[in-house]
Amino acid sequence: MQIIRTKNELKEAIRSERKLGKKVALVPTMGALHQGHISLVNLAKQHAESVVASIFVNPTQFGPNEDFSKYPRTEKEDIGKLEAFGVAIAYIPTIEEMYPEGSITQIHIDKISEELCGAFRPGHFNGVATIVTKLFIQALPDIALFGEKDYQQLYIIRQVVRDLDIPVNIIGAPIIREKDGLAMSSRNRYLSEQEQKVAVSMYKTLSNAAKELQQGKESDDVLLTAKELLLHAGFIKVDYVELRDATTLSPVKNAMKPARLLAAAYLGTMRLIDNLEVTI
Ligand code: AMP
Repeated sequence: MQIIRTKNELKEAIRSERKLGKKVALVPTMGALHQGHISLVNLAKQHAESVVASIFVNPTQFGPNEDFSKYPRTEKEDIGKLEAFGVAIAYIPTIEEMYPEGSITQIHIDKISEELCGAFRPGHFNGVATIVTKLFIQALPDIALFGEKDYQQLYIIRQVVRDLDIPVNIIGAPIIREKDGLAMSSRNRYLSEQEQKVAVSMYKTLSNAAKELQQGKESDDVLLTAKELLLHAGFIKVDYVELRDATTLSPVKNAMKPARLLAAAYLGTMRLIDNLEVTI
């Protein structure tokens, strides 16, 4: 596996892969890799001969009071995992490489970037869209893979690719969970044993709510009860529990079409997100 830290070397390495006739897949990550990330790598290998995984903790997607400096960084272990799972190129740029002094351009997404998580994390999705677009331009991959764990992010990236005519195929991948249902996340390592028990209740609460919606219960009641249950379980603040159209992400009540139940809540200083499919 090649470990590359500059965009020029990345371009060169990918050009060589292409000369060999290989299709290129990109898996963007912020590192502290777990089985959720590895599932993206494995799926990438089914679609392309050459998999590029990037590791970059992107400062522009963190708010001033968020955990940028505390975000887990485990580069050595990450490199070992990427190599073991057959990644061809690990791209690990520095902040200066991605944002040279004087960088002032950002992608701005209207509407949806200010809803759901965007309503509570102003600027977050603009930061995500900007870094992902930069990675697309640097790597020019045939396909790129993103997890449904960050369902709104996946939706926004598809939108950006469509709006800016970026020639890359976006593939979404299912959420990988712990045995108890907790969605895997790099930040989970910071949960205490007690907090882990509370965290699991997010999956349980969403699963029950999804069942009730499927049985035809009034969505306003189901969502309100879910919020109360999360608080009762030990979450200290619930940002939202919402039902949205699975394809357009517009708000729906008692969905007739495939819908998605999405939630975000705080456990101590940690913000957990999760979502589930609701088929009616
Ligand atoms: P992150 O490193 O958290 O920015 O995530 C990098 C990519 O992995 C994103 O596309 C995430 O949606 C995806 N991802 C993170 N956690 C999971 C999970 N539990 N299951 C599936 N994909 C995930």
